[in-house]
Amino acid sequence: MQTLTLGWVGLGTMGGPMAGHLVRAGHRVQAHNRTPARARHWREHYLQTNQPAGELAGSVNDAAYGADIVFTCVGGDDDLRQVARTAFAVMQPGSILVDHSTTSASVARELASEAAARGLHFIDAPVSGGQAGAENGQLAIMAGGEAGTFARIEPVIAAYAKRARLVGPTGAGQLTKMVNQICFTGVVAGLAEGLFFAEKAGLDCQAVLDVISQGAAQSWQMDHRAQTMLRGEYDFGFAVDWVRKDLGIVLDEARALGVALPGVAQINDWYGELQQLGHGRSDTSALLERLRAL
Ligand code: NAP
Repeated sequence: MQTLTLGWVGLGTMGGPMAGHLVRAGHRVQAHNRTPARARHWREHYLQTNQPAGELAGSVNDAAYGADIVFTCVGGDDDLRQVARTAFAVMQPGSILVDHSTTSASVARELASEAAARGLHFIDAPVSGGQAGAENGQLAIMAGGEAGTFARIEPVIAAYAKRARLVGPTGAGQLTKMVNQICFTGVVAGLAEGLFFAEKAGLDCQAVLDVISQGAAQSWQMDHRAQTMLRGEYDFGFAVDWVRKDLGIVLDEARALGVALPGVAQINDWYGELQQLGHGRSDTSALLERLRAL
């Protein structure tokens, strides 16, 4: 595959390992993180384990300058606006900004149109698969944008994708991610209530899981989170603070579409209660802890 110069902004839980895959794929990666210590830690991790390490860029401009593709994996709408506009100012004509953050569809459309006005391209490409998916290079990537632009990024993002798919025009990636968040939080809420009920009924939770995991209640969450939930361990990447951001985006979009999502609204409130209980940085399976605290 062709070796490209790639800019990367945001070396967090997701962005750090994803950028690492691009370095190992042989690309020249100019990586920037707002907090410099995190960037240094990212580079040192690869050097200490005798793996190729990317170059650190002191600013968003330095990361984006001269890059064929600039990747962002930051926070919400305002974070993305700030970073993308800074990058746009120095990006070369014809280059592409690929955003892996979870944001609203409207900010994706806004930035795609600003990019087009500058002769640049924009793809919204949120990801699913969590920290483990980022580390193992097994993410599901749902993209929105032009087919020709997606064809240029597809072989590059294959470095960390299990499945990458163009779903529709700009914003369709973020809308698909909203569907993902609606589905997965419903499963987590059901699993938390099931385990809570099992505990209160005095059942042997291991025996319960052993049998129901082979039936219609089986899920990825049951297979990967039930044991850790029972042990009260909630340090698995996707934070309650982030899911609140995502469900807020879903509910705003649903209102704009005139769609009622009462289940999502309820689960969003439960996650708000978890934040009040000090679980903002716990992972999303901490819903069981809210029930235990009632
Ligand atoms: P994280 O660990 O908190 O990292 C966020 C990164 O974005 C950090 O590098 C942070 O820099 C940077 N950042 C945030 N706001 C910024 C700004 N205004 N300017 C410059 N840099 C900024 O978060 P994460 O878990 O990697 O999530 C990143 C994105 O992926 C979010 O949109 C999240 O919703 C989405 N996502 C996360 C998961 C998951 O399982 N964690 C799964 C799918 C999607 P600092 O280090 O300076 O704070």
